[in-house]
Amino acid sequence: MASPILDRNLHIRAIDTFIDPASPKDRAIITHGHSDHARSGHGKVLATVDTIAIMKVRYGEGCTGSFQALAYGEPLDIDGVRITLYPAGHILGSAQVLIEHQGQRIVVTGDYKRHPDRTAQPFELVPCDLLVTEATFGLPVFQHPEPEVEIARLLRSLRDSADRSHVIGCYALGKAQRVISLLRGAGYEAPIYLHGAMVRLCELYEERGVPLGELRLAIDAPKSELEGAVVIAPPSALKDRWSRRLADPVLAFASGWMSIKQRARQSLVELPLVISDHVDWNELRQTIAETGASTVWVTHGREDALVYYCRQQGLTAEPLNIQGFEDNGEEE
Ligand SMILES: [Zn+2]
Ligand SMILES: [Zn+2]
Repeated sequence: MASPILDRNLHIRAIDTFIDPASPKDRAIITHGHSDHARSGHGKVLATVDTIAIMKVRYGEGCTGSFQALAYGEPLDIDGVRITLYPAGHILGSAQVLIEHQGQRIVVTGDYKRHPDRTAQPFELVPCDLLVTEATFGLPVFQHPEPEVEIARLLRSLRDSADRSHVIGCYALGKAQRVISLLRGAGYEAPIYLHGAMVRLCELYEERGVPLGELRLAIDAPKSELEGAVVIAPPSALKDRWSRRLADPVLAFASGWMSIKQRARQSLVELPLVISDHVDWNELRQTIAETGASTVWVTHGREDALVYYCRQQGLTAEPLNIQGFEDNGEEE
């Protein structure tokens, strides 16, 4: 199926609006707040209220000419094109974009996951003709374990090494709050200590209705208080001076990429936690089948394997090769 309404740069031509553009545009729809999707400098931005709040925190109130909030499931008609946002389950406020035009339904997933996560609105399946899906973990080797199993490993290490700080490298938006929420869900009630870079976004999640329990600033705590404690820090802080103030730290890292043992070794991580905010190979295939799409465009990662798989299933499929989406930035 040729797509008359959406081109391969995710430009909805009839209304001159781009989805997650890499450079400033007059009109943009932003799927979520990660920096490779949400950038500053656009004229008008349409997004969920949570994504708008995240963009303002990260880039400042004036980062965009004007914002328009759109609630999930609420259609917006613009010059004969209907836009509706649906939860993507990736991080707080993340959205899939449904574009309807002359009977054709196109869904752009943005980043998404289907595993339940108390820090993100749950993924909704949206039937469509053309599915534009991410494929960050689009290889059969990627089969994410249950995050609860990974958190249980962390809790075991906390019991076994009760005198050591456990520093968990997490990206500041989404992963940090999810790891904290998973710990709380597993019954861990002790204060959790934050690197300063995590504070504002954790506050924002709490303001938006995601409880995270008692959080303290690590830098304010005496070293003895950090023995046996959980400390959440950006990955870059694991190796720098900042972590030297901790008590004989166990270095952990929470990421979908931690399933690649070589990566865990190279990063000197003692406790790799495979916790992903993206669908894995099986969930990608499940989603493609369930949407009923006859055409699939693949972006963001392991495009070729998924394109090959779709063609085997008799679908029309193409890689998009859009520049600017990081598969290894904060996208994990
Ligand atoms: Zn992404
Ligand atoms: Zn993302």
